[in-house]
Amino acid sequence: MDIQQKITSLREELSEHNYRYYVLDQPSITDYEFDMKLKELQQLEAAHPEFYDPASPTIRVGGMVTKNFETVVHEHRMYSLDNSYSKEDLEDWEKRIQRILGDAEVEFTCELKYDGASISLTYEDGKLVRAVTRGDGFQGDDVTTNIKTIRSVPLQLKGDYPPKFDIRGEIILTLEGFAKMNQERIEAGEDPYMNPRNTASGSLKLQDSALVAQRPLECLLYTVAGNHLGISSQFEILEKARSWGFKVPTVAKLCKSTKEVMQFVEHWDTNRHHLPYETDGVVVKVNSIQQQEELGYTAKSPRWAMAYKFQAEQASTVLNEITYQVGRTGAITPVANLRPVLLAGTTVKRASLHNADQIAKLDVRVGDTVFVEKGGEIIPKIIAVDFTKRPTDSKSTKYITHCPECGTELIRKEGEAQHFCPNDTGCPTQITGRIQHFISRKAMDIEGMGSETVELLFKQGLIANYADLYTLTKEKVVPLERMADKSAENLVNGVAASKSIPFERVLFALGIRYVGETVAKKLAKAYKNIDALMAASQEELVAVDEIGERIAESVVNFFSEPTNLEIIDRLKSYGLRFSLSEEQLENQTDKLKGQIFVVSGVFETVSRDELKKLIEDNGGKVASSISSKTSFVVAGDNMGPSKRTKAESLGVPIISEQEFLQKLQA
Ligand code: AMP
Ligand code: ZN
Repeated sequence: MDIQQKITSLREELSEHNYRYYVLDQPSITDYEFDMKLKELQQLEAAHPEFYDPASPTIRVGGMVTKNFETVVHEHRMYSLDNSYSKEDLEDWEKRIQRILGDAEVEFTCELKYDGASISLTYEDGKLVRAVTRGDGFQGDDVTTNIKTIRSVPLQLKGDYPPKFDIRGEIILTLEGFAKMNQERIEAGEDPYMNPRNTASGSLKLQDSALVAQRPLECLLYTVAGNHLGISSQFEILEKARSWGFKVPTVAKLCKSTKEVMQFVEHWDTNRHHLPYETDGVVVKVNSIQQQEELGYTAKSPRWAMAYKFQAEQASTVLNEITYQVGRTGAITPVANLRPVLLAGTTVKRASLHNADQIAKLDVRVGDTVFVEKGGEIIPKIIAVDFTKRPTDSKSTKYITHCPECGTELIRKEGEAQHFCPNDTGCPTQITGRIQHFISRKAMDIEGMGSETVELLFKQGLIANYADLYTLTKEKVVPLERMADKSAENLVNGVAASKSIPFERVLFALGIRYVGETVAKKLAKAYKNIDALMAASQEELVAVDEIGERIAESVVNFFSEPTNLEIIDRLKSYGLRFSLSEEQLENQTDKLKGQIFVVSGVFETVSRDELKKLIEDNGGKVASSISSKTSFVVAGDNMGPSKRTKAESLGVPIISEQEFLQKLQA
């Protein structure tokens, strides 16, 4: 055997042992034998760098250092999941689904929800080419070097895999692995880590991949994304992924009814403590991919999937004080200040009380002993009062009537849970809150300026709104407390640099209520510039895919406020971007201008997302449901029966994929 053959055969052999050990959990040689073979391969590779292969098992030991993790845009967006907490929630979800799918039969795949860090792996021709963190769902960090050290992530696939696809999963630490890591840390005189999830996600961003290699991380996979994969159900995805060499937990179950789903949920709620890793719930998914496409997505999550959250860990402690926070929109949030208590690995001092109704419903009072729970939220919440421990002199909580920041009488609109301070132009916290939002990282990302600087500038009378930021000069800023020459310069430069921030982020920065990052992107894309958006009526806005009444009303209100118009005029005069760039407009036409499309079914030459993009890029709008305003329904195979009936009854023309594509050729 020549050297190259020897290297190849060692690589194959080690990959197979690796797979047997880390994925199947069925090793067939001892650790010692494995280490010996690995050493032999390492020596051969070192002596023959000409045979380098990025998929060699020796890569697993790490050693490459990543200084900066590059940002990568996900080809297929990574969504969140909606949460449910009860059988009733799940049943409501099923009803919503059935309403859309008509009386078609629906099956569900139930999986455990693995509690770790999400990851998206891209494979081309069977080789791992990229691993990206979820980030904000649109783009994440390239952590390929670190991920390659995780033994259960295949570097080379087996079997009959598609030429190119992304696969999604969760990087986790098993409880045993985590305990072992902590044991070693304690022995080395270091502080133990708090919990497996944060430790797993922190591991992905370590610069030295050799350190990552030492951590007992695992990768559990749950879905595949790509075009034309020829897979028809979620359950099939799991089976296929397993056959390609991925670690896919076998607890997943195909269920024919919500009753079976509930049995799965209940079983794992009681048995989860015996699992080798942490789980915080179950993920229920509509099994048929075609039905999934029919159901589609909301702005944040698929309509075809639902997370069922298990009851979280609880602790009890004393409520010392209730304070009230004023948000940038004037919304008041009551906050419980607690006697510090340890809960699920962290010390909790504050908890959210949500609103006046919540306080009344719980009848929570200062001095009470309360139960605190930590769900997926960052800030824990109070779920109940321990009435047996209530002090005899306890007085019921009186919700504040006036703004704690500006003294204005609070208002509460019909149907809204929150109290508001209506003094939006004079309430200092609201003013600074809006400016702080404007400069924040996901908005204008103004470097050299933080929340405290905003407060300082406001107190000194240098700014009263975000447009004033652009009038700041170094001379004006330098006299401020603790403002060195250099920092003043940075601040002014940071403000100037923000003028090149793209339109969709400027739109987000304006701080229109309910217009988050995703909605801002949608609106920017649909209207292309601020003037068109300002001219849009509530009705027109609602016709845009994923824009509901509440958002539309808020947008119209914002642009009907003279002070807002004045501020926008000023921002325009300073040179901020209020339209999509040339590059963003490229490949875009007006061919479908004014036309509203609804897309239904499965397509042959383009994916559903590609089709939607084609419509939007050519000036059309995509709506999620059929109405008398719909111009065309583009129907693929197996169009939803309810959609067909509705289109026919409203006389909306139904066209095929081919007919649609011809429209674009014209
Ligand atoms: P959340 O972050 O609470 O919106 O929940 C969504 C996240 O759950 C996804 O981004 C995944 O990373 C994670 N997840 C864990 N297990 C699963 C699973 N079996 N199916 C889908 N998502 C999962
Ligand atoms: Zn106020």
